[in-house]
Amino acid sequence: MPSGEKILQIDDSEASTHFIQHIIEEDLKTGKYDGRVHTRFPPEPNGYLHIGHAKSICLNFGLASQYSGKCNLRFDDTNPSKEEEEYVKAIMEDVRWLGFDWEDRLYYSSENFDQLYEYAVRLIEKGKAYVDELSPEQIREYRGTLTEPGRDSPHRDRPMEENLGLFKRMRAGEFAEGEMVLRAKIDMASGNLNLRDPVLYRVLKATHHRTGDKWCIYPMYDFTHGQSDSLERITHSICTLEFEDHRPLYDWFLEELGIYRPQQIEFARLNLNYTILSKRKLLQLVAEGHVNGWNDPRMPTLSGMRRRGYPPEAIRDFCERIGVAKSNSTIDFALLEHCVREDLNRTSPRVMAVIRPLKVVIENYPEDQVEELIAENNPQDPSGGSRKIPFSRVLYIERDDFMEDPPKKFFRLAPGREVRLKHAYIIKCERVVKDENTGEVVELRCTYDPETKSGSSQEGRKVKGTLHWLSVAHAQRAEVRLYNHLFLKENPADEKECPDLKSSLNPDSLETIGNGFVEPYLKDAVGRFQFLRLGYFCVDSEDSSPGAPVFNRTVTLRDTWAKITKKSG
Ligand code: ATP
Ligand code: MG
Repeated sequence: MPSGEKILQIDDSEASTHFIQHIIEEDLKTGKYDGRVHTRFPPEPNGYLHIGHAKSICLNFGLASQYSGKCNLRFDDTNPSKEEEEYVKAIMEDVRWLGFDWEDRLYYSSENFDQLYEYAVRLIEKGKAYVDELSPEQIREYRGTLTEPGRDSPHRDRPMEENLGLFKRMRAGEFAEGEMVLRAKIDMASGNLNLRDPVLYRVLKATHHRTGDKWCIYPMYDFTHGQSDSLERITHSICTLEFEDHRPLYDWFLEELGIYRPQQIEFARLNLNYTILSKRKLLQLVAEGHVNGWNDPRMPTLSGMRRRGYPPEAIRDFCERIGVAKSNSTIDFALLEHCVREDLNRTSPRVMAVIRPLKVVIENYPEDQVEELIAENNPQDPSGGSRKIPFSRVLYIERDDFMEDPPKKFFRLAPGREVRLKHAYIIKCERVVKDENTGEVVELRCTYDPETKSGSSQEGRKVKGTLHWLSVAHAQRAEVRLYNHLFLKENPADEKECPDLKSSLNPDSLETIGNGFVEPYLKDAVGRFQFLRLGYFCVDSEDSSPGAPVFNRTVTLRDTWAKITKKSG
């Protein structure tokens, strides 16, 4: 991961206008692009989108909307050996889910293959490109290093007609992969390695997901990206910092070809601690089976986050808060969770679930009686309504909410102590029933005080703790999945610190509880909920079925981010 300080606090006033907005506003003032703002989001369809891409999507679509411009979606699909239609579909779904619309502006770089071929021919005719027969290894060797200039290929000064003939034969499929390439003729001594006669076209006998077998030579990404921007008449071509050194090359192509020139602007990519944001490594996690697919709720992919229950609004809010800068840094994952929590706190109904049940029998409650208690869905949302919860003689509470021999500060249930059951009554623990063999507590015998019903005049009677609970006869069984960071190390992207992805994985990143219970209200539920005192959860979109719900914990209730900022602020 690029070095740089970990950002603990975001200055919101800084985030409100950033350097790219300044550039665009200046261009609008000077009329550089006739007042147009036209951006694009250019993914390569070789994997699913991740939260880093969300930063780029929010930035590109956001700027277009802010300046009444347009933003294209363009697939930079120049490498048939790694790209697939599955990824194209998933990317479109994710961009839409995030809340953005490319309208009728969907493009593929592969649609430009004829045009790019013609551009290559034009460079050959100008004496600015040549066909080389050096092997890939030799080309690397001839390139030189940062401290040493490269060496000219023996084929560099081939006559133009010969180059043209060989390039046509490359296209006709007469050469094997690696036998011939087309290279730009720029400067083998350039201080910028990208300008040392980069390869423009290579032979690749692969079927392309869109152009099929029409081509057996494919343009390199660097010979495609800038020209595609130009053909789409993009005004501000926004990319991440690692492309800064490629800008002179892109500009060289546009200049030599004499075509329209967008302005490339580089910004710092998003890095998140405990997270990997590299499609190559994410693909490895999927391929080696360390996670259950690209949309595993532990993945930093947008599809994983969607399945985990992150609202798109929260991701957009996060992207807004981290701002846009020119130097690399690492954002604390807790900030992302803070944004998720803020959104869910406002929008999700509060319900009860018990994930590690302990049975409670209310001895003075009639055997066959069931009461329907009224529970408000969300005190944060006046339009959220209310629902009914059944109360009866036999209940579940959370095992952690009882201690036989508690310390002083334990304000939950213990022998002789009282607690309130949320939306219901105050109960008192009278006796403990244990397993004869193991000594394990298996049941609590309690009494309730009928005068303390929630909402009644005695409701205000003081007890220190309030617990969540369920009526055993009415509880709906549910599988509950709890998640932790996928990686143990704070900086898993650092190849020095974590040379082997596998050994830096957190073995406890997923805890599955098969035997949880939720309110009957959630039997066929969809969407996101707060389980009181347990966190925010959502119904799993893949593994839930009617009557057998599966819940993913989206995020816990405890906000470590708010704590960090309070301390340092
Ligand atoms: P990866 O490193 O995951 O393979 P990439 O850059 O190869 O990503 P692309 O499909 O080329 O993936 O990315 C599409 C766009 O998203 C590019 O403009 C790229 O700069 C941007 N992008 C990718 N990763 C990040 C990130 N971590 N932060 C911000 N923008 C990103
Ligand atoms: Mg890329």
